[in-house]
Amino acid sequence: MNNVILPPATIGIIGGGQLGRMIALSAKQMGYKIAVLEPELGGPTAQVADLEINGHYDDELALRSLLSRCAVTTYEFENISYLTVEKLSADGYLPQGHRPIELTQHRLTEKKAITKCGFKTAPFVSVRNDVELQEALELIGYPSILKTISGGYDGKGQWTINSSDDLENARAVIQNYACILEGYVNFAKEISVIVTRGVTGEIEAFPPIENIHQNHILSLSIAPARIDKRLAMQAETTARQLIERLDFIGTLAIEMFVVEDGLIINELAPRPHNSGHLTIDACNISQFEQHVRAICGLPLIKPVLKTPATMVNLLGQQVEQAINKWQTPEFAMAKLHLYGKEELKRDRKVGHITFMDQDCNQLDKTVTKFLQSKH
Ligand code: AMP
Repeated sequence: MNNVILPPATIGIIGGGQLGRMIALSAKQMGYKIAVLEPELGGPTAQVADLEINGHYDDELALRSLLSRCAVTTYEFENISYLTVEKLSADGYLPQGHRPIELTQHRLTEKKAITKCGFKTAPFVSVRNDVELQEALELIGYPSILKTISGGYDGKGQWTINSSDDLENARAVIQNYACILEGYVNFAKEISVIVTRGVTGEIEAFPPIENIHQNHILSLSIAPARIDKRLAMQAETTARQLIERLDFIGTLAIEMFVVEDGLIINELAPRPHNSGHLTIDACNISQFEQHVRAICGLPLIKPVLKTPATMVNLLGQQVEQAINKWQTPEFAMAKLHLYGKEELKRDRKVGHITFMDQDCNQLDKTVTKFLQSKH
């Protein structure tokens, strides 16, 4: 029987960052209560939660305490011990289970699962020592990218190998980390599709979003993605089939490369995703509300993009100037979202701003102007 969780039940969130905060804000709007588990006091999610439990994500006592107080529990990031989550699954209700985190926190397992589901990834080989590195390079060639199997984000844990000159550095990396070597994909564009599967098996996908990175960090997300209709449909179908074949529940963000002959899947995230933040302001339903509906057993809503939109991520060093610009009448329509982070750390995402306009060209001009002076 499906478990329908209605407000004012308490939803638990493992992880206390901005994704948890935005899940919580959505859930609270619907009348749910929020409990959060995170190591540090007063983080972005805790600031809007009803109950804060401080403890490490692997702390069984803390996790058990969260699970037992909540009608349903979810996670906002994938680097939690899946073994602990699996072990404690009887202590609460976690409809997504441990499998999405087990699979996506390990690049090799993730890529094998994607190919097993019938979809393309960049060529990849597991690399644990010098001999395997040499063999992998013979197979994949230059340029290629060495990636740590776990723990990387925003380009951390990645090294491009352009020639044998880069091998010394690569050898030093594999001394310390299990890695994969991946073929470099000469992509035309990067896009993502955010797809949600409810506990009933119902699936809904957001239209593809185009993503532009700077220094490996997502800088701009643009909706609709500037790709042709056929490719947009292919991306959406791929997302629906992948979440079904993986048998995941909740939200799955699928990052894809657009190449000459179609799509290559780069990476999965079993949670709401940075590229989907624009859904809050530009869609009839946000990725956060859809996620809450999925885990609470409520019917999903078919996402519709109401207006073209561009999201600009704000990093610690950019916030002050961005706030100054946002105060001027020219940018008054922009929606500012700050995550309540006390410390404005360099190169860390501390907020975002969404620009919307029915007229795409006008939108382009506004965003370009906003980005013109260093913000
Ligand atoms: P990832 O952590 O795998 O999402 O990678 C971060 C970013 O690095 C991607 O969004 C791409 O811009 C770039 N990247 C990752 N893998 C590849 C690849 N195989 N070929 C080309 N660029 C890549």
